[in-house]
Amino acid sequence: MFSGKTTQLIATVNSFRSEGKTVFVFKPKLDTRYADKSVVSHDKNEVDAYSVEKSIEILDYHLNADVIAIDEVQFFDERLVEVVETLANAGKTVVTAGLDMDYLGRPFGAIPMLLTIADEVKKLNSVCTFCSGRARFSHRISQDNGIVVLGEKDKYVPLCRSCYNELKDK
Ligand SMILES: [Zn+2]
Repeated sequence: MFSGKTTQLIATVNSFRSEGKTVFVFKPKLDTRYADKSVVSHDKNEVDAYSVEKSIEILDYHLNADVIAIDEVQFFDERLVEVVETLANAGKTVVTAGLDMDYLGRPFGAIPMLLTIADEVKKLNSVCTFCSGRARFSHRISQDNGIVVLGEKDKYVPLCRSCYNELKDK
């Protein structure tokens, strides 16, 4: 989190569009952090997006697109993997962005399968809140119990492995 993954996704979308490609952007419906019909990065870059509840709905829209971009994939159901493969087999370029681990450091949603089938994987890191080291973990500082708590700055802090391990049992 705070690693610039949405910023990176938006840059990729814009780059495909500048090549004349038609790009459709999707996100899970639960993400209402900033706006419902767009994907917005923490630095307030923005592209229009379809919000869908189930990953299978992406297949209803894809026919006229060259490229399908999907944000926050960790919050989608596991059928996303099948959807992504269907799109790739139909000749579409599929770009996904998501958080690889939940706040307990466990693989998140369909991410492990997506990592396995991807042609290319780019891991982004952010900076540890405490030691400025390379942060790979999200430590939850809110009291919410559900796993689907969106990555807002008041709820999570990015931590490196050693600061995460030091804090998680407190
Ligand atoms: Zn640290």
